[in-house]
Amino acid sequence: MNAPAEHARLARQHLIDPEICIRCNTCEETCPVDAITHDSLNYVVAFDKCNGCLACVPPCPTGAIDSWRNVEFVKPYSIEEQFSWDLLPDTTELDGFEASVAGADEAIPDEVQQLTEAATAGQGGPALAPWSAAHPYVNLYPPARPVTATVTGNFRLTAEDASSDIHHIVLDFGATPFPVLEGQSIGIIPPGTDANGKPHLLRMYSVASPREGERPHYNNVALTVKRVTEDHDGRPVRGVGSNYVCDLKKGDKVQVTGPYGSTFLMPNHPGSSIMMICTGTGSAPMRAMTERRRRRRDQKEGGELVLFFGARAPSELPYFGPLQKLPQDFIDINFAFSRVPGEPKRYVQDRIRERADKVWAMLQDENCYIYICGLKGMEAGVLEAFRDICRAHGADWDTLHPRLLANARFHVETY
Ligand code: NAP
Repeated sequence: MNAPAEHARLARQHLIDPEICIRCNTCEETCPVDAITHDSLNYVVAFDKCNGCLACVPPCPTGAIDSWRNVEFVKPYSIEEQFSWDLLPDTTELDGFEASVAGADEAIPDEVQQLTEAATAGQGGPALAPWSAAHPYVNLYPPARPVTATVTGNFRLTAEDASSDIHHIVLDFGATPFPVLEGQSIGIIPPGTDANGKPHLLRMYSVASPREGERPHYNNVALTVKRVTEDHDGRPVRGVGSNYVCDLKKGDKVQVTGPYGSTFLMPNHPGSSIMMICTGTGSAPMRAMTERRRRRRDQKEGGELVLFFGARAPSELPYFGPLQKLPQDFIDINFAFSRVPGEPKRYVQDRIRERADKVWAMLQDENCYIYICGLKGMEAGVLEAFRDICRAHGADWDTLHPRLLANARFHVETY
């Protein structure tokens, strides 16, 4: 978001925090004016191209995109400078500028002021957390100061003959405080260096356990990690982070950063319902939210849980066994299996269409919050299913969708 008027002395420059960015390419794909680009190290924003539309901000899974610095209009941070950063420039620079702006004779141009307010007030810009979400702590342990956790468990979740090797990892923080909420992520720094001799970047994983710990009242978290053995085009590749994590043994020490994420958080008010839509390991935050609600069942707070969960086959489904055992009056589970021999391929969006009446009722319910997590590819299919369901009920998804976002009822985390 950069000053649109050439006469402006100061501008609010839109940047990407290299410490938190997970290099998922979502922002570059989203930017309508091609202002975002990347090299092998960083994602960056071109000052002269960014028009401040903020389209890239809500889809960013980590919030790294929501970074801003005041700069002199004639001296913004160049693309080359941003490529070389391990950290954002110090914010004390920003404070200095704010002081000088306040004291300057020349007022901040209206357009800059409006864009700045939009960035901070969430007017069609940054995603919002549900009003009743608990307070998230963010970036308590940056990559420069990670916390050491101990592995207390590593269990394979998928069948031995399944094509995906998915692990449930439990990390214990001992006496170090590590407050984390359902829907947040943590970073893990694999040991060693990359091909350029630089320390590996952190890898982010959604927490799969509820806020009071995988084991209640222990200072621990669980993760759901799939061993990456091929790239998006199916070529063999050994994922550095996922293989490191999946091979961890009990007692191993791990460098952890975070927590991250301040909006993909569950509502806490009595009567709030949750619709969860996920594929594969995108089930991690859904498992955390479900477990939080399961442990509080005796509070009789009301609200429904509806889950749409896509996987290749039952044997490939993380948490299949425990999920099957949950009572139907606690959670309404809808599985979609895509590779079961002899059965037609089914995706979550097919199951959503089959449950159109239920989905429509939940879309209408101001106390229902919707979460989508998993493969990037499913996002368009799910949105199309919502569009069809709205149309069938004489409503318009393009009107409803912004309302859901503005009310913090619609949360997407896809990679
Ligand atoms: P996967 O096993 O490859 O796929 C899961 C299911 O999604 C399969 O049934 C697959 O069907 C189906 N699918 C493929 N394309 C689809 C589409 N366009 N629409 C709807 N369904 C589709 O999944 P995965 O490898 O576990 O991937 C999960 C994703 O979640 C990853 O991108 C990961 O980065 C992300 N994620 C992980 C975490 C975490 O903490 N681990 C957190 C957040 C997000 P096919 O048979 O057609 O392949």
